[in-house]
Amino acid sequence: MDVKSLEVWYQKDHRKLPFRETKNPYIIWISEIMLQQTQVESVLPFFVRFIKKYPTVKDLAFTEEETLQKDVEGLGYYRRFRNMHLAAKKIMSDYQGIFPNKYKELIELPGIGKYTAGAIMSIAYNMPFSALDGNVIRVLSRYLGISDDMRLEKNRKKLDLINQENIECATPYIYTQAMMELGALICKPKNPKCDMCPIQEHCFAYTNDQIESLPVLSKLKEKKIFEYITLILHTENGYFLRKRDEELLKNMYEYPQFEAESIYSVLSELENQDVSIELLDSRQLNYQHVFTHQIWKINVYHVKVLSGKLDDWILVEKQRIKDIPMAIAHRKIKLI
Ligand code: SF4
Repeated sequence: MDVKSLEVWYQKDHRKLPFRETKNPYIIWISEIMLQQTQVESVLPFFVRFIKKYPTVKDLAFTEEETLQKDVEGLGYYRRFRNMHLAAKKIMSDYQGIFPNKYKELIELPGIGKYTAGAIMSIAYNMPFSALDGNVIRVLSRYLGISDDMRLEKNRKKLDLINQENIECATPYIYTQAMMELGALICKPKNPKCDMCPIQEHCFAYTNDQIESLPVLSKLKEKKIFEYITLILHTENGYFLRKRDEELLKNMYEYPQFEAESIYSVLSELENQDVSIELLDSRQLNYQHVFTHQIWKINVYHVKVLSGKLDDWILVEKQRIKDIPMAIAHRKIKLI
């Protein structure tokens, strides 16, 4: 690959993002975790607030998990932030708060995989470690004309070796960021700007008119659909909510919901558990939320609790609801 042209282009044309103008490994780590599955534009306001509130790994380690969850509410994929919190605590306990600078130490921290470890090693420490993400996969598949299915781990591993060879002939902190930036700005999934591309001259896909067909990514499995009856449980002193213990959205609050055919089967299920409720409004309000692997169809009913409660229901005052961490799937439900 024409690494030199790529690096010259990056140094001249890259966006001045706050996490690209630093070699602080803590800041680079936070940005890489936030950028997982999330667009730069969505991440930026969160990132700026986050670094202001948690300028060091120590500040992050000592915050409450619920406070942290509230601070990142809206970004989705909340497990990454639970892992981030655990990793910060481990850096405090095992490394006296000093960010590790060895790959084998980074890779053992919760939530840091090969990609994130490679990004931190190359960008913060200028060490030649590959950081292969979706952008880099697209650029390399097109540039080299590789038509292997990149959903398969074995094919990504082969590409990772090629990326490793490239970075060993480059300036690591520039190469990694240049590949990310090229994938984000120029070699985009649709309508890449090949006429502005610094590596166009030897690009296989461009020369052979195969841009649309590369990279090869086999179809993902269909998303599973869940249909819920979701209850807004009014009481004299607020609402009953529930703190999730399922892996998806773990520890986020939600309005209690049931996989049931109708509101009437929920009413009788609750009756059997000595909970008596009455419908405040028999109209059902429908919401939908799409996750990576599943879709929630949420049918909302406003009800009044007359007596009883389930063990995992937690009473939350109305004015506190905006302050607790809640997934967007339920945050968008309008209260009456
Ligand atoms: S020439 Fe086009 S397809 Fe090839 S790497 Fe550049 S932007 Fe991507």
